[in-house]
Amino acid sequence: MHSEPQIALNCPYCEESIYETLSWFKKSYSTCPSCEKGLVAGQFATLLANLELAMDASIEEMLNGQPHTGCCGQQSESSDQRESSCGKGTSCC
Ligand SMILES: [Zn+2]
Repeated sequence: MHSEPQIALNCPYCEESIYETLSWFKKSYSTCPSCEKGLVAGQFATLLANLELAMDASIEEMLNGQPHTGCCGQQSESSDQRESSCGKGTSCC
């Protein structure tokens, strides 16, 4: 699977960062490439959950863009237009 995103998490034993795919960290049992100690999926569960939350948040940001409330209820293409249309910038109304 080449399309899978790779993430870096620190090994709980040796603190080396492990750069692997998401599914690698989700395996029920894997071995740290650096110290070769056994890693169980539960050790990364919290980290992974946080990471996925962060990913979701950033994806939502990309989809929605920055929150734009157009001046006077109008949707402007750019802030320049918005400023010139009322002369007061974003703080009008
Ligand atoms: Zn390690």
